[in-house]
Amino acid sequence: LRNRLATTVGGLDGIGFDELAARTAALVRESGDRRPVLTVFGSANMDLVATVPTAPALGETVTGTAFRTVPGGKGANQAVAAARAGGVTHMIGAVGDDEFGAEMRAALDASGVGTGGLRTAEGASGIAHITVDGKGANSIIVVPGANATVTGLAPEDERRIADSDALLLQLETPMEGVIAAARAARAHGTRTVLTPAPTQPLPPELLDAVDLLVPNEHEAADLTGERDPHAAARALLALVPEVVITLGARGSLYAARGAEPVTVPAYEVEAVDTTAAGDTFVGALCTAYGEGVAMPEALAWASAASALAVRRPGASSSMPTRTEITAFRQ
Ligand code: ADP
Repeated sequence: LRNRLATTVGGLDGIGFDELAARTAALVRESGDRRPVLTVFGSANMDLVATVPTAPALGETVTGTAFRTVPGGKGANQAVAAARAGGVTHMIGAVGDDEFGAEMRAALDASGVGTGGLRTAEGASGIAHITVDGKGANSIIVVPGANATVTGLAPEDERRIADSDALLLQLETPMEGVIAAARAARAHGTRTVLTPAPTQPLPPELLDAVDLLVPNEHEAADLTGERDPHAAARALLALVPEVVITLGARGSLYAARGAEPVTVPAYEVEAVDTTAAGDTFVGALCTAYGEGVAMPEALAWASAASALAVRRPGASSSMPTRTEITAFRQ
C-alpha cells in the first residue's frame, strides 16, 4: 500500500501525514469520486457525566449511581458524525496537555477524523460537567479550557479550509476565531454551515460569511423571537441565504431565499438518547450535500443518520456509519 501510495502521490519522502492527507484528498477529488472534504472548526470537550436520582440543591451533597467520561463538544461531535457518514473530515481546534486531551485526540483519530489541525494547548482541556437526574433532565457546567485558545487560524488551517467543500462552525469557541474561519472559507469559495449553539447574538461580520444556518427550534426562537418555525425561518432568511431548523421528533424545515420551504419528517424510532442528535444531523447533512446530493434528499439522509443515533445510548459513540445509514434508508 505504501509503495502504491508513493507512486500515486509522487513520493512519500519527508512528507508528513497532513501533507499526505491533503495530496490524497486532492487526488480523490480529481478522480471524480465525490467523497466530500469537510473541515470542522470548533470545540472538543470531555463530558463528565454523573447520574443521580435527584440533582443536588445549592449546598447539598447527593450520592450518584453512575459516572462516565465521554469525548464530546459540538465541534468534535460534528467531526465524528461527518467522518462516519463518509466525509473526508479534518478538525481545527484545541485540547489541553492533560489526559483528557490525549483521550479526545485518540477518539477523533479512531473515528477517522484528521487531527493535524487540533492543537495541544498548555493547561486543561475543555470539560462539560453534566448531572443527569432520574427523569433524564440535566444540568451542565462547561469550562472551556483549551477551547478558549481557538481564537484564530494558522496558515495551514487556512489551506485546509480552502481545500474543503464545506466548513462546519458552532459557537463553543471564541467568536473572533469563528469569524476568522468563516471569512477564510468565504474568501476561498468554501461553503459555510453554522450551528448557532449555544445561542448568542450573531455579529454581522459572521452572518455575512454564512451560507447555511442550522439552529434547532429553540435556538431559532431565541434568535428571532418567533416560536413558529416557519416565521422563524422567514426571519432568519433576512440574515443568511439558507436555513434548516431542526424540530426534534418532528423532523426539519428547510428554507432558502426565493423558494417554497420544505418540511422533512423524522423517522419514527424509539428514542433512547437524543444527545448530539443535532450534531449527527449536521455532519451527515454536510457529507451528503458535499457529494452533490440535492438538499431535500440530503436532509432525508441526515434524518436517517440522526434517527439511528437517537436509537442508541451515547453521543459520538452512537453515531452511525455510512453503511448503516444507507441500509436504514432502503
Ligand atoms: P438538537 O439535538 O440540536 O436539539 P433536534 O432535537 O432538533 O436537534 O434533532 C435533530 C434531528 O434529529 C431532527 O431534525 C430529527 O431528524 C432527528 N431526531 C431528533 N430527535 C428524534 C426522535 N425522537 N426521533 C427521530 N428523530 C429524531
